[in-house]
Amino acid sequence: MSETVFILAGSNLGDREKNLAAALSKLEFIEGLEIVAISGIYLSDAYGMDDEAPSFMNQAVMADYEFTPNELLNSLELIEKKLGRTGKGKKLPRTIDLDILLFGQQIIETERLSIPHRELLKRPWAMLPILQIEPGVIHPVTKTLVADFLTEKDRAAVLLYKDHVARQP
Ligand code: ADP
Ligand code: MG
Repeated sequence: MSETVFILAGSNLGDREKNLAAALSKLEFIEGLEIVAISGIYLSDAYGMDDEAPSFMNQAVMADYEFTPNELLNSLELIEKKLGRTGKGKKLPRTIDLDILLFGQQIIETERLSIPHRELLKRPWAMLPILQIEPGVIHPVTKTLVADFLTEKDRAAVLLYKDHVARQP
C-alpha cells in the first residue's frame, strides 16, 4: 500500500530556482516514489537565520510513496548531498533542503524523524505550497484542515514567485 506524501524543497543559496529544479528532477528517480503534483515557487524571508541570509524559495511536491518514512528520508538526504548540501542540522543557508511534511496520516516521532514536520503549522511557506496542491489536506495530529492555521499575516509573509501547479496526467 502506498501513502500520499508531501515533500518541501527549499533553497536559499546559489541559483535557488535552478537548485529546486535540480532537486525535483532527481525526485523522479527515487524508487517507489510517484510524483502526483508540484506547487508553484514561493518566496519568503529566511526566518530564524542571520539577517543577511538570502530569502528562501520553497516548492512542495505531492507524491505516492511505497516504502517507509526512513527510506524516503535516506533518498532525500542522498539528493541533498548530491546537490552540495552542507551544514546539516545548523541554521545556515543551504543549496537545498528536502523535508518530509506529511506521510499520509501517519504520526512518527523518532530520533531522526518527526512527522508531520513539527513546524508545519507555524510555517506559511510550507503550508501555502501544499494547500495550493491540495486545499483540503488534513493535519494528522489536530485532525483539522491545515488551511485553518493559515492567517492573513501568514499569507502576507510569503510571495508567490512562480505560479504553475503541475499535475501528472
Ligand atoms: P532543517 O530542515 O530543520 O533546517 P536539516 O535539514 O539540517 O534541518 O535537518 C536536521 C535533521 O532533521 C535531520 O538530521 C533529520 O533527521 C531531521 N528531521 C526530523 N524530522 C524531519 C522531517 N520530517 N523531514 C526531514 N528531516 C527531518
Ligand atoms: Mg531539512
